[in-house]
Amino acid sequence: MFIPLLDIYIYIYIYIYIGGESDLSSFAPDAASITSSIKYHAEFTPVFSPERFELPKAFFATAQSVRDSLLINWNATYDVYEKLNMKQAYYLSMEFLQGRALLNAIGNLELTGAFAEALKNLGHNLENVASQEPDAALGNGGLGRLASCFLDSLATLNYPAWGYGLRYKYGLFKQRITKDGQEEVAEEWLEIGSPWEVVRNDVSYPIKFYGKDIKAVAYDVPIPGYKTRTTISLRLWSTQVPSADFDLSAFNAGEHTKACEAQANAEKICYILYPGDESEEGKILRLKQQYTLCSRRSGDRIKWEEFPEKVAVQMNDTHPTLCIPELMRILIDLKGLNWNEAWNITQRTVAYTNHTVLPEALEKWSYELMQKLLPRHVEIIEAIDEELVHEIVSKYGSLDLNKLEEKLTTMRILENFDLPSSVAELFIKPEISVDDDTETVEVHDKVEASDKVVINDEDDAGKKTSVKTEAAAEKDIDKKTPVSPEPAVIPPKKVRMANLCVVGGHAVNGVAEIHSEIVKEEVFNDFYKLWPEKFQNKTNGVTPRRWIRFCNPPLSAIITKWTGTEDWVLKTEKLAELQKFADNEDLQNEWREAKRSNKIKVVSFLKEKTGYSVVPDAMFDIQVKRIHEYKRQLLNIFGIIYRKTNFVPRVCIFGGKAFATYVQAKRIVKFITDVGATINHDPEIGDLTAGMEASGTSNMKFAMNGCIQIGTLDGANVEIREEVGEENFFLFGAQAHEIAGLRKERADGKFVPDERFEEVKEFVRSGAFGSYNYDDLIGSLEGNECFGRADYFLVGKDFPSYIECQEKVDEAYRDQKRWTKMSILNTAGSYKFSSDRTIHEYAKDIWNIEAVEIA
Ligand SMILES: *Cc1c(COP(=O)(O)O)cnc(C)c1O
Repeated sequence: MFIPLLDIYIYIYIYIYIGGESDLSSFAPDAASITSSIKYHAEFTPVFSPERFELPKAFFATAQSVRDSLLINWNATYDVYEKLNMKQAYYLSMEFLQGRALLNAIGNLELTGAFAEALKNLGHNLENVASQEPDAALGNGGLGRLASCFLDSLATLNYPAWGYGLRYKYGLFKQRITKDGQEEVAEEWLEIGSPWEVVRNDVSYPIKFYGKDIKAVAYDVPIPGYKTRTTISLRLWSTQVPSADFDLSAFNAGEHTKACEAQANAEKICYILYPGDESEEGKILRLKQQYTLCSRRSGDRIKWEEFPEKVAVQMNDTHPTLCIPELMRILIDLKGLNWNEAWNITQRTVAYTNHTVLPEALEKWSYELMQKLLPRHVEIIEAIDEELVHEIVSKYGSLDLNKLEEKLTTMRILENFDLPSSVAELFIKPEISVDDDTETVEVHDKVEASDKVVINDEDDAGKKTSVKTEAAAEKDIDKKTPVSPEPAVIPPKKVRMANLCVVGGHAVNGVAEIHSEIVKEEVFNDFYKLWPEKFQNKTNGVTPRRWIRFCNPPLSAIITKWTGTEDWVLKTEKLAELQKFADNEDLQNEWREAKRSNKIKVVSFLKEKTGYSVVPDAMFDIQVKRIHEYKRQLLNIFGIIYRKTNFVPRVCIFGGKAFATYVQAKRIVKFITDVGATINHDPEIGDLTAGMEASGTSNMKFAMNGCIQIGTLDGANVEIREEVGEENFFLFGAQAHEIAGLRKERADGKFVPDERFEEVKEFVRSGAFGSYNYDDLIGSLEGNECFGRADYFLVGKDFPSYIECQEKVDEAYRDQKRWTKMSILNTAGSYKFSSDRTIHEYAKDIWNIEAVEIA
C-alpha cells in the first residue's frame, strides 16, 4: 500500500485547555469569545457565499479567527525587534515544507480545547475542520522540513529571525498513485486562497534581470512559538509585473498572448519548485528563482557599517548562493564601499549549510548562462575567484607547481578557466623538447554537471534518468590522450556554487557528526586545511511540538504523567527520565495501549485511503521519505518479497514522492505498488542507507515516537544509536568508510552476490508481480560498471545482512516486554534530536544572536 507522505503524521486530538501561568493566559480568549470570532469572520471576512456554514468555510473562518490572535503577537514581536534594533537571523531556503498550520498554531497558543469547544457550539468538529486545510508543500523533503522545524524552534526560543523563501503557486506537485505508479498534478494549495498569508503591498522590490525588470512582492506567514508570544515571519516572495507592462494596445489588436507576455514571464518564476531544467529555458527559470530568493531586500534602514552586527544570513544549501555577490553588489555599487570593506561585511554576514557529500551533486551553473542573466554578479564572482587564487598562491606558493595547480583546480570557484593573468606567469613551464610528432596532451576529464549523480540529501535529488556511475568512478582521472594537431574539445565553463559559499561565508556546517567529518576530510578538504576555523557540525533536529506533542497525544499524555510535568515539550532532556521506568509494568501497559490506539487510527486511515484492512496487532513496518535509490526502498521491498510468509506478520507501509523526472525512482514506486497489495503482515523501519544520507530526520521523528529502527551507520543514525543504546537499534550493512572499497571491489568484478538476493531478482523477473517489465530496475543492481548499473547503492551487498537483521527484529517483537522496553528507551534517548538544541547551537556558534522575550 502506498500513501502520500505528509498525511500520515496528521493525528487529531482534543486537549482541554487549562489556564496556566504563562504570559499568554491574560490574552487567552475563551470558547465563547472564539465562537463569536469565528461567526464574525464567516460573515465579515467572507470568502464563501453567506447561506451556509459548511466545511471549507468553517476552516477559513476558524483560521481567520486564529490569525487575529497571531497578529497581535506578530506585530508586537517585530515592534520589539525594531525598537531594540537587535541582530536578526535570516534563514534563506528554496524550500519550506510547512504542512498544515491550524492545529500547530492553536496548540502553540494553548487554545486547542477552546477552539474545539467553540466549533462544537457551531455544529462542527475540530478534527474535520482541520483536515480541510490544504498542505503547504513548498518543499521536496528533509531540507524543506528542516527549515520549517527551525522556524518553529526560533519562535519558541524567542530568537529574532525570519524565514525567506518563494511562494510557489503550485508547490512541488501533488502525488497520485495509479495502476501505472506515480502521477504528478499541480498542488492546489492556493486555489481558494490561504488564510495565513498576509500580502505586504509596501514590501516590494524591483528585480533586474539583464534586459527585463520584474517586481517581487512579499507575502508573510506568521510562525507562532510554543507557549510564548514570539511570532516570527516566514516571508515568501512572489513575482509580478506592474499593470503598465500589460500591453493594452496589443491586447486590443487581438494579440492576446503577446499582450500578456510580460506577466507570464514574471509569474512563471514562482509557479513551481524545481522546474525541469533539461532545457535552456528551464535552466534560466531556475536561476531566476534563485536570484529572486536572494535579490536585494529590506535592510535599507540598516547602516552598512554595522551590517554584520545586525544581520546573520544562513544559506540552506547552495540554492541561495547568489546572496553573496548580491550583497557585494549592493555594498559596492549602491553604497559606494570599496572592495575590501564590502568583502569583509559580506563574509561576516553569511554562512553556509552543506547537505550533500557527493562531489557530483554540488551545484554548478553554466558561466555563459549566468552571464547572460546576471552580468554584474558574474563580474563580482570573477573578482572573488581571483582573490581566492591569490590567497592560495600566497599560502601554497612554496609547493611544487603541480601540487599548487591541483589545489587551484579543485578550490577555484570558476571551473575550466584559465588562471588570471596576474598569476599566470608563475605557471609558465620550461619548454620540453619534443622528439615525437604526436604530442601528449593532458586532458582533464571533468565530470559534467549534466551527468551528475544527484545525491543531494534533500533537493531535487537524483532526478536524472540514470545514475551515471562511471562519471563518479572516473572523476578526476586524468587521461593521457595522444592527440594529433586537432585541439581537444573545450570543456564548458562553470561556476561552482558550493565553493563560492565556502569562500564567501564565515561558517560552513554539515548536518550530522559523520557528515561534517566527511565535509572536512573529503568534500572540502582543501578548504578545511586553509581555514579550519570555518568548519562546524550542527546535527539536525525536529520540533518536538509537531513531531510528538501535537501528532501523538496519547504518547504525550503518558510522558507528561511519568515525568510529572509537560516541561519535556520545551526541555526534551526530561524525556530521559523515562529511562528509569523502562521496565515498569504499568508504564509498559500504558505504552502498549497508546501504541495500539494509534495503530487503530492508522488502520482506519489505510482503509479509507487504500481499501485494505489490516490488523493492529501486526508489526507496522514503515519507511516514509522521498523515493530515491540512495534511500534504498528497494532493499526494503526485496526483503519483504524474500520473507513472504515465514515471519511475524507485518503491515509494511511506504510513503514518499519520487521526483517527477527521476525515472528509476518512479519505477520503484510502481514496483512497490505492484508488490504492495499483499504481504500483510509496532512500527518501525527507518533508514536503509549506506554512506549517502547526510543526516536524515525521519529517523528522529520515529525514535521520538517510540519506534524501533533498522538502519545502517549513516547520517544521524550514528548519533541516534549512541543515544538510545545499541541494543535498542537494529544495525545492519556496510559502513560509510567501507563504501568506496566495496564499489571498487565491484568494479574489479570481485563481488559475489548472495544466493537469496539472486532468488528474489529471479522471482521478480518471473512476472510474479504483474506484467510490467522490471528489467531496467533489476538491471540497475547488476553488472560491474556502466550507466545506471552495478548496484551503486549496494543493495545486493547489504541484502544478506539486512534480512538476517530482520530476523532479529522478528525475534524481538515476539517478546512484547522486551519490545516495549526498547520502544520506551527510544523515546527516552531521543532528546538530543530536538531542533531547539540545533537552533541554540546555530544562534550561539554561527549567528551570534540573542533571545528576547516579548512581554
Ligand atoms: C522529515 C521529513 C522528511 C525527511 O525524511 P528523511 O528520512 O530524512 O529523508 C521528508 N519529507 C517529509 C514530509 C518529512 O516530514
